[in-house]
Amino acid sequence: MSLTIPSSFSGAQPSEEAGSLPHEAAPRPRTYQVRTFGCQMNVHDSERMAGMLEDAGYVAADGEQADVVVFNTCAVRENADNKLYGNLGILAPVKAANPGMQIAVGGCLAQKDRETILKKAPWVDAVFGTHNVGALPALLDRARHNNEAQLEILESLDVFPSTLPTKRDSVYSGWVSISVGCNNTCTFCIVPALRGKEKDRRPGDILAEIQALVDDGAIEVTLLGQNVNSYGVEFGDRQAFSKLLRACGDIEGLERVRFTSPHPAAFTDDVIDAMAETPNVMPQLHMPLQSGSDSILRAMKRSYRSTKFLGILDKVREKIPHAAISTDIIVGFPGETEEDFQATLDVVEQSRFATAFTFQYSKRPGTPAADLPDQLPKAVVQERFERLTALQDRIAAEENRKQLGRRVEVMVTAQSGRKAEETHRLSGRSQDQRLVHFSVPEGAPAPRPGDLVTVTITEAAAFHLVADPTPGDYSLRRSRAGDAWDRSQADSCGAPAPGAGAGRKGVSLGMPSLPLRTP
Ligand code: SF4
Repeated sequence: MSLTIPSSFSGAQPSEEAGSLPHEAAPRPRTYQVRTFGCQMNVHDSERMAGMLEDAGYVAADGEQADVVVFNTCAVRENADNKLYGNLGILAPVKAANPGMQIAVGGCLAQKDRETILKKAPWVDAVFGTHNVGALPALLDRARHNNEAQLEILESLDVFPSTLPTKRDSVYSGWVSISVGCNNTCTFCIVPALRGKEKDRRPGDILAEIQALVDDGAIEVTLLGQNVNSYGVEFGDRQAFSKLLRACGDIEGLERVRFTSPHPAAFTDDVIDAMAETPNVMPQLHMPLQSGSDSILRAMKRSYRSTKFLGILDKVREKIPHAAISTDIIVGFPGETEEDFQATLDVVEQSRFATAFTFQYSKRPGTPAADLPDQLPKAVVQERFERLTALQDRIAAEENRKQLGRRVEVMVTAQSGRKAEETHRLSGRSQDQRLVHFSVPEGAPAPRPGDLVTVTITEAAAFHLVADPTPGDYSLRRSRAGDAWDRSQADSCGAPAPGAGAGRKGVSLGMPSLPLRTP
């Protein structure tokens, strides 16, 4: 598939011509931007894409139009397609006005749609799938050299993606993949078709990557897999995940360990014990419910039932009393009756989730559920969705109110809330992952992103907590992660930045950031 736009620009590496002209300035490096849609797995893949592009000589665009725009796509939800094609449409005239610009599309939607992307948006230069993220720089080079769009999709992984160079979005915390793919067959989910069967990484490789992150200054890691607690299935150790959690407990300097996502069917007591007995594993759990109705769970091919789900939460809370539990719920799965939906509301009421990611079911071509009869009218789904979110918002606010007066340790993040300029509050996450906006008492030292402050909660809303401490109520612990933040700021501006607590500019991958709500 040829492109009509000529490729008359220099690449990321200095050209031969430039090398032969000693007095001429070297060509500026090409810039890139990675735009991410979808889940944390995609966000982490974007870090790898950025790492590989930087390895190949590209630099991150800093506000200006990037020479290379990479879309890392998601096929899980309908609006992700619309978003991608909408964005590609917006970029077509930008590309026409900027000869030399390149556009690449990777991720789940690329794995699924393949040549359709080039048919719908023939100005795209490279399409690559979920199994060959490492091919991105080569595909861009080839597209430029051959003046022709490149499409390369692999059906299975040849290199575990974590062995690829990675440019991390944060110096104080990092994601570490423990597995990719999924052996389940949930009928609404496109992941098994696109990411393939589960592949587990060796524990030694995972721990070495965590150690390297910690050596670089990170104090928090999140272990990532489509179904983390089936980790070990490939090498025949059913307790591999709990052993991995306990091994994380032995890594000196690692203060916060999280993981996502487990599956209720495979969640075993040894994991709960490991969570409770490993001090750096945080009191937080994301446990996807999807539906509270057993007949809908059956139709979804989710092999647990609501009683088992609630039983897991009881066991977790027995061993970790202050655990904050979050979930995912789909409303309006085909065939969902009012009675089924009521069962979901009942389980939500009993579960007391701290947060819930709620979704309206939308047909995903290629998934078994897309062909089920009894697809629900949009108006019905919308009305149920609103009832569910109203219930969950009430519960979240009630649960957050229980935090009033509690002392919490907050790891400061680089992102501030929307009203931060007005309130002068900084933001961070408590050990149980709640969002906390806090003020620094006058005269007290300001923390840097990655530092830890301990404060008492003074206000609570459904989606965040607030702490406005007195000087005696505020304590700051400067951390290695804060030092790493200082170093990253010094590296990015070329000047030392001792104690640069006020710097709020993160290492950007060009990804949309979630606005934080602040009072
Ligand atoms: S467990 Fe189900 S929802 Fe999760 S990735 Fe696997 S198939 Fe998809």
